[in-house]
Amino acid sequence: MATSFIRDSPYLSKDRITDLAHPELTVCSLCNGLLWLPVACEKCETSFCTSCIKTWRIEAEDPRLCPKCSAEYSQRPCPGAITHILSTFNIICHHKPHGCSAIVPYKSLETHEETCDYRQKTCPGCEEKIIRMHFNAHYYTCPSVLLTCPECNSIYQRQNADQHTDYKCLRVQINQLQDQMMRIEHIQNGKLNLLESQIRHLIETIEQIVNR
Ligand SMILES: [Zn+2]
Ligand SMILES: [Zn+2]
Ligand SMILES: [Zn+2]
Ligand SMILES: [Zn+2]
Ligand SMILES: [Zn+2]
Repeated sequence: MATSFIRDSPYLSKDRITDLAHPELTVCSLCNGLLWLPVACEKCETSFCTSCIKTWRIEAEDPRLCPKCSAEYSQRPCPGAITHILSTFNIICHHKPHGCSAIVPYKSLETHEETCDYRQKTCPGCEEKIIRMHFNAHYYTCPSVLLTCPECNSIYQRQNADQHTDYKCLRVQINQLQDQMMRIEHIQNGKLNLLESQIRHLIETIEQIVNR
């Protein structure tokens, strides 16, 4: 390699592949993981992950050069033979640490991981990470989740819901109505003042005509 450059965390680390073959072709020399969305150097046909070569072309000492053959890098699609070998691999799901036992073909890995029941979602209330399959059960009981009162639109945490009594709710609604009335009054007053000044102007005009 032209410059020492290894990304510390590959997208697809080798230990997730159950049936790795031809590592000299299928492992990315920039991240040392399995090639992911690979592209290749036109000159030497060495393949790299798209994201790895992108990083290389920003961070390398001389980003114009291919990391492997040191010729000026120009990009071509990954050779079909390599894409074919990759497509035969089976990969352990990224969410295995949270309980997923799926081993999925290379090509459907992305779709599986996006919809995996063991993928974590962050609860907007308590900010805890919950796996998808338990998320709804948690979300609809989590004491920290914010609720909106359907009557007065007040917002409070679920655990404080019983402090929003009917009495409080009605007080809020009365205040809202008072605000609304004041706004309407303000607008009406403006219109009234305008009418009054127009009438005054008309009277003055009439008086001028009469006194002529
Ligand atoms: Zn890579
Ligand atoms: Zn090259
Ligand atoms: Zn999974
Ligand atoms: Zn929560
Ligand atoms: Zn309310």
